Amino acid sequence: MASYDLSGKNALVTGSTSGIGKATAMMLADNGARVVVAGRDKERGMAVVDAIRSRGGEAEFIPADLHDAASAKELAHRAEETVGPIDILVNNAGIAAFGPTEDFPEETFDAIMATDVKAPFYLVSELAPAMAARGSGAVVNVSSVAGSIALANSAVYGASKSALNQLTRNWAAEYGRRGVRVNAVSPGPVRTPMSAEAGESVNELVEQTPAGYMAAPEQIAAAITYLASDESSYTQGTILDVDGGRRAV
Ligand code: NAD
Repeated sequence: MASYDLSGKNALVTGSTSGIGKATAMMLADNGARVVVAGRDKERGMAVVDAIRSRGGEAEFIPADLHDAASAKELAHRAEETVGPIDILVNNAGIAAFGPTEDFPEETFDAIMATDVKAPFYLVSELAPAMAARGSGAVVNVSSVAGSIALANSAVYGASKSALNQLTRNWAAEYGRRGVRVNAVSPGPVRTPMSAEAGESVNELVEQTPAGYMAAPEQIAAAITYLASDESSYTQGTILDVDGGRRAV
């Protein structure tokens, strides 16, 4: 595994109690960052914190149910109160739901947009100005191949990740000159609780993917860690496909 120097950096990873977020929190900590593990489940969050500490890393857990501007802003404040200025923000928390457009419940539409678009928006609105004032920072958004290609039964989730891709580019334009790099990773199918719930549609996606298998969360975390590190210092506003080649074919 590549190694990076993230010592002295504070990182906030949303939804880091499982899956890609957990793997990212561990990898950022392994590379020297002090990590705020944020999520809804205290027990799972503390298990991640304990795992990081047992490897010699630094981590704190802050509970957060991200569904609106207030919850995003509160997490940002609590994270800065707990560890100090946030240098790395990973907008990973997300939910997905799949189904035909004609039957799609309004509350599910609103929930996806709230967690996958509105919460990242208000976390950036709260944290990026301070990064810009300090002249450095990195934001990594966790998007999805579903935001770049058209998949049946994935209209709302696809639209939410497409919005996140565009926010990534907008924020690069808005904050880039002031030292804040904003990028996204766009995973294909990854072995996590989310894909386990998605059922047959994920197997179809794997079948269509040149890699021919479902990624481990650590394969996505590796790309996020790279984009969070100074090794990607000239990379801004990019959507990095980490999708086993699916978008290319
Ligand atoms: P996961 O279900 O393990 O992780 C999602 C995380 O987000 C969990 O920790 C969950 O608790 C958290 N979360 C959900 N709603 C939340 C809320 N309201 N407030 C705070 N936290 C909340 O699944 P994952 O696959 O690791 O997903 C992580 C990210 O990766 C998501 O943004 C997802 O859209 C994206 N993604 C996943 C796949 C895949 O195949 N698994 C593919 C592409 C993109």
